[in-house]
Amino acid sequence: MTGDDTATTAGDERTDVERLDKEYVFGTWSYQSEVDPTEIVGGEGVRFQDAHGSEWIDFSGQLMCSNLGHSADGVADAIAEQAREGAYFAPGFATEARAKLGEKLAEVTPGDLSKTFFSTSGTEAVEAAIKIARMYTGKQKIISRYRSYHGATAGSISVTGDPRRLAGEPGIPGTIKAPDPYAYGSTLDPMESLEYIDEMLMLEGDTVAAILVEPIVGSNGILVPPEEYLPRLKEIAHEHDALLICDEVMAGFGRTGEWFGCDVFDVQPDIMTMAKGLSGAYAPLGATIVTPEIADHFEDELFCHGHTYAGHPVACAAGLAAVETYQEENLIEHASEVGSYLGDRLEELAEAHPSVGDTRGVGLFRGIELTRDPDERVPFGTRDDKISKGSTVVDEVAAAASDGGVYVANMINTLIIAPPLTITESDIDEAVSVLDDALEVSDAAMDG
Ligand code: PMP
Repeated sequence: MTGDDTATTAGDERTDVERLDKEYVFGTWSYQSEVDPTEIVGGEGVRFQDAHGSEWIDFSGQLMCSNLGHSADGVADAIAEQAREGAYFAPGFATEARAKLGEKLAEVTPGDLSKTFFSTSGTEAVEAAIKIARMYTGKQKIISRYRSYHGATAGSISVTGDPRRLAGEPGIPGTIKAPDPYAYGSTLDPMESLEYIDEMLMLEGDTVAAILVEPIVGSNGILVPPEEYLPRLKEIAHEHDALLICDEVMAGFGRTGEWFGCDVFDVQPDIMTMAKGLSGAYAPLGATIVTPEIADHFEDELFCHGHTYAGHPVACAAGLAAVETYQEENLIEHASEVGSYLGDRLEELAEAHPSVGDTRGVGLFRGIELTRDPDERVPFGTRDDKISKGSTVVDEVAAAASDGGVYVANMINTLIIAPPLTITESDIDEAVSVLDDALEVSDAAMDG
């Protein structure tokens, strides 16, 4: 599999569902000949089961989105209730769930972010952010970074830096890539990379609408910048009259032990994008929230954007119930506590396994970067490996974990650990012991 769509392998005998799915449905980000989806029959808490009798601990929350686990009854009930009361009314009507979710987001997002445009995915949330930044500033260019993913459609793939952008190239005009805060693997020190961005803005003149970043990079390897990085990036953006957009699609909603990734650094962006954990993955829902200053601009300028399903009542009911669940069950605090425990357990794996080059992360948002040679920090999976057919050593480690009953996503050379926020220390112990065995695969594949 390529991209972050890690899937498990079907057994010898395909079920009817697996046969139909393979024949009639595209597998995402994959060579179709390699797609072999396993039929999932259900989930409960942090675990899910397939039609062949296997069960997994969901150590990646599917695509780093199932923040509430697989049995958040309050969200399921809210969806059913809303579907019965009125599944859909056009965005021009006010509906209770959308209005209340808008108010809730103003409450839980940092600072004075207050007005939201609702959509159905992270991709659309980013498309809206790009368009809003351009309409508000009257400028066109967007600076984003190489080790990033922001979505799959024309605009969002153009600002994406990882190899998934290749099918979208040359992309929309006016997108520029900057270096990343990747202390372990880049030749550039993270803070030096910022000064490079400062110089880029100077050289671009007054043409840059916004800098778009994941505050903590997700699928490109859980890159946590130094504490001073994001505050300085905001300063640089503002010194050049550009906006700061934080893409919180993966880092948001408790994943880091704070509500949002930018809260870890105490930075309020001008525009923030959300999806995934916003509904706990119970419904497709994206959101783009802006400051009052940006919102006010559209009082007398046309807000020239929308979708049929912008603020779909059922999705918003799911979002509202999900945010209430985070609050009522104190899940953000729990993620912070259990996240420290996870960090300690991953450190132990790093000490025990020479192929673990680095473990890093915050809260329940962590990565294990594998290396062929720890002295030279040679990655196992290269970017080229991941866009070619066949599996990499990192895929094989994930497959070994899957055989042991732990689902873990992987991207390039990093295992991505982002379980539901409801996970307990004993679930973590169980999963870490399976990873301990699985990492023998990469240890055995090292040079020398
Ligand atoms: N931004 C980030 C940071 C993401 O991680 C993703 C998805 N992995 C997206 C945007 C796109 O979201 P979606 O897949 O919901 O369109």
